[in-house]
Amino acid sequence: MKKDFYEILGISKNADAAEIKKAYRKSALKYHPDKNPGDKEAEENFKLAAEAYEVLSDPNKKAKYDQYGHQAFDGSGGFGGGHGGMNMDDIFSQFGDIFGGGFGGFGGGGGGPRRAKGSNLRIKVKLTLDEIANGVEKKVKVKRKVQAKGVTYKTCSTCNGQGQVMRVTNTILGRMQSASTCPTCGGSGQILDKKPSEADGQGMVVEDETVSIKIPAGVVDGMQLKVSNKGNDAPGNSIPGDLIVVIEEVEHEFLKREGENIHYDLYISFPEAVLGASKDIEAINGKVRIKLEEGIQSGKILRLKGKGIPSINGYGSGDLLVHVNVWTPKTLNKEQKQFFENALNDEHFVPSPEKSEKSFFEKVKDMFS
Ligand SMILES: [Zn+2]
Repeated sequence: MKKDFYEILGISKNADAAEIKKAYRKSALKYHPDKNPGDKEAEENFKLAAEAYEVLSDPNKKAKYDQYGHQAFDGSGGFGGGHGGMNMDDIFSQFGDIFGGGFGGFGGGGGGPRRAKGSNLRIKVKLTLDEIANGVEKKVKVKRKVQAKGVTYKTCSTCNGQGQVMRVTNTILGRMQSASTCPTCGGSGQILDKKPSEADGQGMVVEDETVSIKIPAGVVDGMQLKVSNKGNDAPGNSIPGDLIVVIEEVEHEFLKREGENIHYDLYISFPEAVLGASKDIEAINGKVRIKLEEGIQSGKILRLKGKGIPSINGYGSGDLLVHVNVWTPKTLNKEQKQFFENALNDEHFVPSPEKSEKSFFEKVKDMFS
């Protein structure tokens, strides 16, 4: 009878992804072959934990396992029958995700040559408010350092490809041995062998590359997105750095962004305020028609739910807040002037704010809450 995957990792069936990962990390460290040399049982537990994690960390496999148990992976396809399903190389290749690299396989214990990583590149991408609201795919040209065609590298003879050299020093406590990065190869364990003439001293050339960047909706000015492995490459057995994309928001002509909300200043005429009106206003993705009731007051804020910027986490959108401003005429003709002079003592024109109408300060308070 095969042991239950949840039991192997010591977690409940309700464990979430973070708990599963944490439990696996714990088991893997406990049963790691480096810590238990020659211990067959530890090795078996190590493999079982890896197998359990492989299934439970994958939402599809987990769902199958939750429904059908081990049967889900027996026989045809899937995971293979017994727990010989994974070999040690598979297990260690998983570790990059779990331990964030720097976790060696057998015997290594973190020693050996490290794969050099190229430097990061940074670019700015300008986005309009519409692009930010909808998400956008941008193609950008970057100049990347890459290994020239035909370049070859060979094992560094100073460190024999280990990337490290041992230094022996005599101290009062006796001879001390310490490892330090190889000065010849800089720790990569490799040095330049042959290179084409156009390449630099490390065998690198600069190339133009067009990189496509998917920018999710809701990004914020100054935010940095990472495109893995699209930075500069490094010589020898290496991995490229990353491309860091810095978001720059282009100011909109009419709309002011404040987090996920958008503000719009609407100016209406005095007659429109008195009689009511229908107005087209600028919004994300085009115009929106709003109705103003008759007798609308200056300073009123109309909230259009969900017409703001989507949240970067994908949970809903902000609102569009329309600030109503009544435009007072600055010049009048004779009759108009006469009309308003008569109105001065007219009860219809005397301000009488109702208790239910919120003051400007209360509105502002609401807006930010
Ligand atoms: Zn070296």
